Amino acid sequence: MIIGKHLVAGNWVGSDRTFSSDPAHGPSHDFAIGTPELVDQACHAAEEAFWSYGYSSRETRAKFLNTIADEIDARGDAITEIGTQETGLPEGRLNGERGRTVGQLRLFASHILAGDYLDKRHDAALPDRQPLPRPDLKLVQRPIGPVAVFGASNFPLAFSTAGGDTAAALAAGCPVVVKGHSAHPGTSDIVAQAIDAAIKACDIHPGVFSQIQGGDRSVGQAVVEHPLIKAVGFTGSLAGGRALFDLCAARPEPIPFFGELGSVNPMFLLPAAMASRAEAVGKGWAGSLTMGAGQFCTNPGIAVVIEGRDAETFIQAAVAGLGEVGPQTMLTDGIAQAYQKGRDTIRGTAGVREVLTTTCDLRNATPYLFVTTGKDWLDNEILGEEVFGPLGLVVTVKDEAEMLTVAMSLQGQLTATLYLDDGDTALGQKLLPVLERKAGRILTNGFPTGVEVSDTMVHGGPYPASTNFGATSVGTMSIRRFLRPVCYQNMPDALMPGDWG
Ligand code: NAP
Repeated sequence: MIIGKHLVAGNWVGSDRTFSSDPAHGPSHDFAIGTPELVDQACHAAEEAFWSYGYSSRETRAKFLNTIADEIDARGDAITEIGTQETGLPEGRLNGERGRTVGQLRLFASHILAGDYLDKRHDAALPDRQPLPRPDLKLVQRPIGPVAVFGASNFPLAFSTAGGDTAAALAAGCPVVVKGHSAHPGTSDIVAQAIDAAIKACDIHPGVFSQIQGGDRSVGQAVVEHPLIKAVGFTGSLAGGRALFDLCAARPEPIPFFGELGSVNPMFLLPAAMASRAEAVGKGWAGSLTMGAGQFCTNPGIAVVIEGRDAETFIQAAVAGLGEVGPQTMLTDGIAQAYQKGRDTIRGTAGVREVLTTTCDLRNATPYLFVTTGKDWLDNEILGEEVFGPLGLVVTVKDEAEMLTVAMSLQGQLTATLYLDDGDTALGQKLLPVLERKAGRILTNGFPTGVEVSDTMVHGGPYPASTNFGATSVGTMSIRRFLRPVCYQNMPDALMPGDWG
């Protein structure tokens, strides 16, 4: 059952104004609109909770994370029902994403129990060292305090209320204030109920989690500007993310803003690989590009290939594959409009040829494919900007040197892909050092759309892929974002934090 209110420190509270959800199908529901006053209450409760939760044992936090996962699973059918209605995503996707969400919570629970993430270091005292003695020095990672999380429109579960940012902050020992995404308020509502139940079952301070629904831009601003918030996790648009990042930097006490803002995820198709399998790669690309209506941050929007017969085979295979894909519902009307605007920008750019024309309207997206030359790519910076949706751009370059120049021209990316065979090793060796400077994850002979939740995953990269290149928002290393190292000098064991022992 949807409550339609904010969850503030264990209480479901309404507000004077409401907004109605705008589902892709099914009934609309009313939700209380968030206010800066509610944000303030949630932040004060989070700070109060930090004094117990931030010093709780890893066993307590692991049990809490596992209980949240159990409570989400217990509401699985209700979450899938409202999630499919609100987002237009199919049932299989919502069920799969729920599996990823609870798997993430359980992985983080076992990860903190193992303890390696604390990065404990000890320089034992050297009292007889000359010319000066060395004190006893111990280092351990400590949680930073209350964290704000913005739910993402394109992952209503895995990157929203109980998604990666929330799981990482709670694992670290940080209370969380979520700003719910207005694209899926009902899904967020039921997931918040699951967290509320877990808080009660584990007897945790209720301020450890609050969720303020959106409906008003002042909510997002109030949460990043609140003096008790110590870091922000965000996935969304470049414009929105940059605005919030700037607010964080302008605070009297600036705080880190871990924003994941977008990427065109270029693929470099090397000549030997193209000679042997241009058609198969083109067909596979069409499938990857249109998965989930292309609404993945890792959607491979750009393919760079050396001009010639193999490039034509690749393009024709992609056109054929994309042509078979019908209209897909996008997450929101706004995202559908942004997609059409992005398409119009590409279409209107000098030197760009449209090779697959379809018609999309309202909240639907159909695929588009465009081709341009290396020179035109280099002359038009706008072609390197993300178009969120199933739109592909092939960049045909003259030769290997131009392929390298295109690689050098890229902005920061979440991923970069090389398609290569044995005969491509020399070119691959030239491209890799360039791509390493551009992307958080580099892969070969595959599509980047799937993001494994694991110890080794990096979902981040230089700006604008993320606002913090040293971090990842997926995988166990994401917990590190909400910790800071503290050095304890000559500290008696009795005063050391519990995590040290
Ligand atoms: P968004 O517009 O950036 O919004 C994300 C969240 O930030 C929402 O909760 C939004 O609040 C809030 N917000 C944005 N700008 C704000 C501001 N100036 N002040 C206060 N709060 C602000 O992203 P979106 O709604 O998810 O999708 C819009 C576009 O973002 C898409 O078309 C796509 O281009 C891009 N996107 C990229 C990714 C990615 O993975 N890189 C993922 C999703 C979307 P409201 O609810 O009030 O709007």
